[in-house]
Amino acid sequence: MTSPVARINLSALRHNLDRVKEVATGCRVIAAIKANGYGHGLVEVARALAGADAFAVARVEEALQLRHAGFDGQIMVLEGFNSLPELLLCRDSDLDLVIHDRFQLQLLDKLPAGASPLRLWVKIDTGMHRIGLQTGEAEAVISRLRGYEDVRLVGVMTHFANADDRQNDYTRQQLEAFIPFIDPELEVSIANSAGILGWPDSHKGWVRPGIMLYGTSPFPDSVAGDEGLEPVMTLRTRLIAVRHLHKGDSIGYGSTWTCPEDMPVGVAAIGYGDGYPRHAPSGTPVLVNGQRAALAGRVSMDMITLDLRAISNPRVGDSVVLWGEGLPAEEIARAAGTITYELFCRLTGRVKYRYEE
Ligand SMILES: *Cc1c(COP(=O)(O)O)cnc(C)c1O
Repeated sequence: MTSPVARINLSALRHNLDRVKEVATGCRVIAAIKANGYGHGLVEVARALAGADAFAVARVEEALQLRHAGFDGQIMVLEGFNSLPELLLCRDSDLDLVIHDRFQLQLLDKLPAGASPLRLWVKIDTGMHRIGLQTGEAEAVISRLRGYEDVRLVGVMTHFANADDRQNDYTRQQLEAFIPFIDPELEVSIANSAGILGWPDSHKGWVRPGIMLYGTSPFPDSVAGDEGLEPVMTLRTRLIAVRHLHKGDSIGYGSTWTCPEDMPVGVAAIGYGDGYPRHAPSGTPVLVNGQRAALAGRVSMDMITLDLRAISNPRVGDSVVLWGEGLPAEEIARAAGTITYELFCRLTGRVKYRYEE
């Protein structure tokens, strides 16, 4: 078959979890598996990461998918609940919920008594300014939560805005703003991947790694290997044509690339309809039979065109790696003006997934 295949290396996933534990010694791990396990497959990733202490997802629906698949451990819903029916569903499913807005207290007021207490984390906005209680209002909310009978206040958490910049003092300021909320009676959670790898002072309580589990660096100036990580996804397809074009022939939509000499040009079966980024420019690397070649001309919906001058004896059916083993996804993300998170999440249903040990 010539459909693109994403090979998911489950041992690499586990290696990266071990790397989290090695760097953030003594911390417990909430593995972020939102957005379909960063595009790697929610349930398969959760199964492979059984060694994590808890999972984090963005939405209630994702948590319910995990429950339906049989996961009965701790699951944190990062965006919390936004309606009473949702709140009831969460309690029935025993989810850890995030309180990030006073609006949610009104819903708690309406919550009928239940069999088990609701488990809540309070999210404090120390500078990300996306969701979270402002530092000035958080104390009042925390004491109000302590007054509810059916509520168990589990912990306090915050999230970094600039931790991927190791020189940026903003992270230090966020850490300082969070210190007053650290309470020996409550759990604490601060660090994402960039915090884990770049900011040892954020290694407290529960760390929340996402992207590093999938084996790419959270920093703009390093790749997986520099951080002791192994790439998990290798995206692959095949050559469906090898052409011999002439000097001056232009390739693809908009005729944006012109052959500088008589040369071999390959066509590979992948395009933006599979999630390969359309903004990847000519020159973006791919591996053909393990050797580096480069995009030549625009990415189409189902195909890309490749400058094969550096490839010895290319043929139809040859393997083409878009990113993963031997070709860091970080490099492709940079070329396409995005981040690996987005490359992974945007793969479409046309890509086949293969899980391997
Ligand atoms: C997604 C997410 C994480 C994980 O972030 P990475 O950069 O992928 O490590 C941690 N915390 C919160 C609140 C998140 O939304």
